[in-house]
Amino acid sequence: NTETRYHFSTPKEVEKLIKPRKKFSHKGTFGHALLIAGSHGMMGAAVLAARACMRSGVGKLTVHSVKSGLPILQTLLPEAMYWEAWNSKSSDFIATSFHVDDFSNHFQAVGVGPGIGVNGIIRTSLEKLCEICRDLAIPMVLDADALNNFSTEKGRSAINKIPESSILTPHPKEFRNLIGKSWKDDYEKLDFLREFSVRNKVIVCLKGANTAVALPDGTIHFNSSGNAGMATAGSGDVLTGIITALLAQGYEPKVAAILGVYQHGVAGDRASERFGMTSMMASDIVENIRF
Ligand code: AMP
Ligand code: MG
Repeated sequence: NTETRYHFSTPKEVEKLIKPRKKFSHKGTFGHALLIAGSHGMMGAAVLAARACMRSGVGKLTVHSVKSGLPILQTLLPEAMYWEAWNSKSSDFIATSFHVDDFSNHFQAVGVGPGIGVNGIIRTSLEKLCEICRDLAIPMVLDADALNNFSTEKGRSAINKIPESSILTPHPKEFRNLIGKSWKDDYEKLDFLREFSVRNKVIVCLKGANTAVALPDGTIHFNSSGNAGMATAGSGDVLTGIITALLAQGYEPKVAAILGVYQHGVAGDRASERFGMTSMMASDIVENIRF
């Protein structure tokens, strides 16, 4: 029965997923997240994702980005730490050979993708990153260029390196490129979404109005919050930061995805009340995140 495979997540049931802060908690309680984002000329993506991450309750945040981005990040987000990419040449900044020792006992979640660029060297770095996260069981969010790097012919054959239970957050064009085929209508789109999620055992948040969150069990959960004012540059980078923060705090991936998508939409709804749908910008979404 296909009907039971679709769920509409009501605000009431999603809000119940939020864990209250305990009195004797400390920043270690809320995890240390690593966000890999930005490149020369694309630092806004890193800033938006990083600010959203810190607004969503992460204990500590390290941002891995290009050298030219350091003053930008440290000025706009003094709360975060910074890990400079080794070979920070403009777009191929994560041409870093990630090493397992840099990750074990350090990070509770990794978010990767906004503004990192696409090429063979970056893809190789990403594959290594996936391997490390799989071996250390560090939950991941893959967005934007992280997905685009898996959308070339060579990239698609490496999709199996993405760890199980990772959260992927493509917009429709990114999803189409990832699966390498177009759909004839929304029903077929949802079939492809479910197929991809089940086959790769990953959670896919297919973004848009009523973002569809597909779980590896074959169910699809539609989001109820958000508005067309969120159709603006940088909006998706904010979501990456929110979900990464939730994973670092120990929310299980399916909860992090459903709750993160919902809270992102709620922040967008607040931003639209203040600025109107036409005038709101992605940074207004960040400033309206409230857990
Ligand atoms: P991106 O394309 O990566 O910047 O992501 C856009 C974000 O804005 C996603 O989280 C979408 O769900 C959201 N968004 C875009 N258009 C709409 C819309 N018409 N209604 C609600 N949310 C939207
Ligand atoms: Mg995006």
